[in-house]
Amino acid sequence: MTSSVTQTWQRYRSVPIIYRIAAAFVLGSIVGLVVGEPATNLQPLGDLFVRLLKMVIVPIVVFTLIMAARNLSPKNLGKVGGQVILLYLFTTMIAIGLGLVVSNVIDPGVGLLLENATGTVETKQSPGLGQVFLNIVPENPFGAMAEGKILSVIFFALAFGVGLTVVRDEAEEGSSVYNGVETIFDIVEAGAEVMFKVVWGVMEYGVIGVFALMAALFANTGVEAIFSLFKLFATLAIAIGIQISVVYLLFIISGLVGQSPMSFVRGSKDAMMTALSIRSSSGTLPVTMSNADENLGIDQEVYSFSLPLGATINMDGTAMYLGIAAIFTANVVGKSLTMAEQLSVLVTALIASVGTAGVPGASIVMMTVVFTQVGLPVQAIALVLGIDPLLDRMRTMNNVTGDLAVTTLVAKWNDAIDFSTGVWADDGVESGSVTSTSTTDD
Ligand code: ASP
Repeated sequence: MTSSVTQTWQRYRSVPIIYRIAAAFVLGSIVGLVVGEPATNLQPLGDLFVRLLKMVIVPIVVFTLIMAARNLSPKNLGKVGGQVILLYLFTTMIAIGLGLVVSNVIDPGVGLLLENATGTVETKQSPGLGQVFLNIVPENPFGAMAEGKILSVIFFALAFGVGLTVVRDEAEEGSSVYNGVETIFDIVEAGAEVMFKVVWGVMEYGVIGVFALMAALFANTGVEAIFSLFKLFATLAIAIGIQISVVYLLFIISGLVGQSPMSFVRGSKDAMMTALSIRSSSGTLPVTMSNADENLGIDQEVYSFSLPLGATINMDGTAMYLGIAAIFTANVVGKSLTMAEQLSVLVTALIASVGTAGVPGASIVMMTVVFTQVGLPVQAIALVLGIDPLLDRMRTMNNVTGDLAVTTLVAKWNDAIDFSTGVWADDGVESGSVTSTSTTDD
C-alpha cells in the first residue's frame, strides 16, 4: 500500500512541474464553470500561492543584484542598462502600434452601448516625470524592501554591491576588510541559490494554487462575460499572438539572437504559465529569473538587473491593451480617433505602462490616464471590468515574455549567455526535458 502511494507520488513528481500546472489550469477552469459559486471558496488557496511567490521577490532581487555588481564593472553596467532600457521602450512602442492597427481592423466595441457600463472607476493622475525619478531613490532602503518597491530596491542593491566591490578593490588582498567583503559576496551567492530552490518548492504548491485561482475566477466570471466582449478579447489575443510570435520569436530570438524560437519558449514556459495564472509580472519575477538562469543560460550580471527592471517598466501587453481599450471606448461612444489622437494614445500609453506596477489589474488605473488624455469617458472602463481578469492574464504573459526576449538579446550582445547549456543545448530534444532538470532535481 505504502509502496504504491510512493510510486504514484514519484510518478506524479516525474511529470515536469509546468505540465502539472497547465493541467491544474484547465481542470480548475472546468471546475469553476461546472460548480459555480461554491468554487469561489477556493480563492484563499490561490492567494496563498501568490503570497508565497511574493515572499521570494525582494530577497532574490537583492541577492542577485549584489552578485551582479561583484562581476560587472560600472561601465559595463551602464552599457547593458542602456541597451535594456532602449529595447524595452522600442518593443513597447511596437506593441502599442500593433494594438492600434489590429483594433482599427477589428473595430471592437462597435454596437455596444455605454449605458451597459456599471460600477465606478477611480481616476488617477500620473505623477510628474521628475517625481518618478526622485521616487526611485529610497529614503529608507529597508522601508523600500518592506513595501516591495522594486525600482528602489534595485537602486539600493546596486549601490551596496558597487560599494562592496570598490571597498574590496581598495583593500589589500588577504586583509580582514578584503576577506570580509568576499565573505559577504559568498553568503549572498549562497542566498541566491537558496532562494531559487525555494521558488521551485513554491511551484510544487503552485499546482494547487493555480487550480484554486482558475476555479474561483470562472466561478465569478462565467463564459457569458467573454461572449459579450468577444471582439475585445479577440483583438487583444490576436495582437498579443503577433507580438509574441513575430516580434519576440521570429525577429528577436530567431533573427537577432540566431536561435530556435521553440528553445526559447521551452526555456520560458514556466514564467509564461505562472504569469498567465497569477496576473502579476512582479509576482512572477522569481520564476522568470529562475528560467533565465537555469533554462536560458543567461549570466546573472544581465538578468539580475534587466528582469526586475522589466517587471516594473516593460509592459508590452499592458501598453498594447491601453491602445486597444482607447479604440474600443471610442467606438462605444461613437467617436473616431484621428491619427493625431492615436499618436497621443501611443505616447501616453508608453509612459503609463512604464509607470504601471506589475500587479493584477494595474491597467485599469492606467486606462484612466490614457482616456483623460484623449478625452474619452472614463466610466466606459466599467464596461470591461468584468472580463479584465481574463484579459489581464494574456497581458501579463506578454509582459513577462517580452522581458525574457529582450534580456536574451542583450545577453547575446554582451556575450553573457551560454548557448551550450539549458534549452539551447537540447535543441530537438523532447519538449519539457529541460524544465524537469530545473524542477525535479530538488
Ligand atoms: N497585470 C499586469 C502585470 O502584472 C499589469 C496589467 O496590465 O494590469 O504585468
